[in-house]
Amino acid sequence: MTKAKLADRQVSGKKHSSKELTPKAFSPKALSPMELALAEAQDAGNRGEVPVGACVVSASGEVLAHAGNRTVELRDPCAHAEMLAIREACAHLGSERLTTCDLYVTLEPCAMCAGAISFARLRRLYFGAGDPKGGAVEHGPRFFRQPTCHHAPDVYGGIGETKAAALLKAFFAARR
Ligand code: ZN
Repeated sequence: MTKAKLADRQVSGKKHSSKELTPKAFSPKALSPMELALAEAQDAGNRGEVPVGACVVSASGEVLAHAGNRTVELRDPCAHAEMLAIREACAHLGSERLTTCDLYVTLEPCAMCAGAISFARLRRLYFGAGDPKGGAVEHGPRFFRQPTCHHAPDVYGGIGETKAAALLKAFFAARR
């Protein structure tokens, strides 16, 4: 890595680069992490994606990444909000581990995202609505409780649940 690039990264590590936090329809800095995730979910719904949003926050409370679902737009079944936020946070920190970071997501993660959360060694997981149909934390495979899971975050469910569930309900109702 060149010195200039390294300096870039160091600066962005402190101040957070404006590029990654470009305001969309909302101002990320004014929102709590779950509110930010909900705003990303709303944004995703407006783009015709399933309205799920996520963000990664550092131990000091800095938002490192935030994203909404983009599976349709990117034609990528892996482009769930959690995956995009995890990738962006890893790129931002220059590490494949997010050991001291927390993930906020509006919906209970699926099996793929639960796996990624484990591999990224995230410290805590905060999620909004439970997902009996596709969730893999409290439903289905209950990934973090399996002996083959080598890192489980502390899990806090039901944060901002009502709003997250209402977004999803409205989205699917409009498609019926
Ligand atoms: Zn997922």
